[in-house]
Amino acid sequence: MTSNTDLAEADSVSFVLDDLKKLQSSENLTETEKEEVRKAAMTLLEKMAPTNGNEQKTYVEPISPVVVQEPVSKSPTNFQPFSSRVVLTTYPNQMGIDPIPMNWGAKTALERGPIIVSRGSSTMKFRNSIGAHGGSYCIYRALAVAGGDLSPHHVPDFTNTHPSYKFGPNPQWFDPKKIVSLDPWGHLVVENFSDLIQKGVDIRPTIAVTKANLKMSEIDEAIKLKRLVVDNDIVTSDGNVRVVKAAVEPVWHLKGVAERFNTTESLLRRALFEDTGGMYPELITRPDMKTFLPPIGGLTVYIFGDANKISDPETKLTVRVHDECNGSDVFGSDICTCRPYLIYGIEESIKQAQAGGVGLIIYFRKEGRALGEVTKYLVYNARKRQDGGDTAATYFKRTECIAGVKDMRFQALMPDVLHWLGITKIDRFVSMSNMKYEAVVGSGITIQERIDLPDELIPDDSMVEIKAKIADGYFSSGTKPSESELVSTKGRNWN
Ligand SMILES: [Zn+2]
Repeated sequence: MTSNTDLAEADSVSFVLDDLKKLQSSENLTETEKEEVRKAAMTLLEKMAPTNGNEQKTYVEPISPVVVQEPVSKSPTNFQPFSSRVVLTTYPNQMGIDPIPMNWGAKTALERGPIIVSRGSSTMKFRNSIGAHGGSYCIYRALAVAGGDLSPHHVPDFTNTHPSYKFGPNPQWFDPKKIVSLDPWGHLVVENFSDLIQKGVDIRPTIAVTKANLKMSEIDEAIKLKRLVVDNDIVTSDGNVRVVKAAVEPVWHLKGVAERFNTTESLLRRALFEDTGGMYPELITRPDMKTFLPPIGGLTVYIFGDANKISDPETKLTVRVHDECNGSDVFGSDICTCRPYLIYGIEESIKQAQAGGVGLIIYFRKEGRALGEVTKYLVYNARKRQDGGDTAATYFKRTECIAGVKDMRFQALMPDVLHWLGITKIDRFVSMSNMKYEAVVGSGITIQERIDLPDELIPDDSMVEIKAKIADGYFSSGTKPSESELVSTKGRNWN
């Protein structure tokens, strides 16, 4: 319940907020002034936390009328995890709404401000971002809450979750245009905002960094054939490959994302609102909230060799940027070259690491050229059933007929993760895609050499795809197929 004491506290928080906003908005701050910003931010962050520990108190009701939180019970008959009042949307300058300033590209996590999306009662007032954590997995969290397995007020215990390797800060983090689709401070959230988190303010990491051993049959084969050597450092005697890996959830700075797509922020917000079935009204009603956690998959970073050297321009770096293809990557379907290319990228990364350099695989969740598996399988059917069979000459046409575009991946946001890692130069870029190449080079990263997939690794049925791509302008060290070659390059019939 909102008390007079709460309102007095809220006033003092607003006062500090105003101070902070003034300081954050002034350019060319001196070191002393920056220190003032940090102190003001600290004071603010201390004040915004509930004063009574972990108790889930309604700190300040964001919008009148007053609501008393019902207790959570797992009994199906009286289970009520939420209050009876639903806040459909919020507006700037609305009473009880006072977002923590977001200073995208700032030099410290504190000056930049935490990403806050929770609609929980202790956090709602301070929200500065639209969307939800976990990408599409936020829906499963909702199911757990609705089913009574999870309290919506659960406070995560982040003990020992800190990164196995601490990336950055890198100079690219301070350029608001270099990184627009992830939070560069996302793995350091617990370190930077631990006091607040302990006090129950819902701030969560959007990046997690860990270690792993990879065991793959193709790598065993490569060791057996002596293409790879056991060094008991990167590759162990039992064929395990040691990596540092990081999972990254998308955090979009909407202004920057709009610029990448040569559109306006307002048109981007409208398109996102419409094409998510109106899921996020605040895209329209809260132009003051600048960041959006979209309901899409993120990416995973795999580093082979010494992660400390990844941003060193003197270190040789091999990179494969791979877009998810579940059918091939996991299940070994032979209609495309995805798994062979992924494994080839891993093998080249291991070789680079063993030669004293670093190898890097970026794995994006953009299934079926970001069209999804349903569209992808419809295209497979249309390709296999068309008159004349599945030929390289009609490969892209069938996708365009169904999806309206031949590729929905738009690599414009892809280079952000390379900038997050501090990369300025890639020695060997294992990809045939011009879209990826141009996006990386266009973002200011140099690529020394492009590497295509060796012919012996291309499955027969996927010759349709590879020839069509080369004819379409994809990079290849071989010759471009002729018109008649495209027509004669046929995939397997179903029967
Ligand atoms: Zn594939």
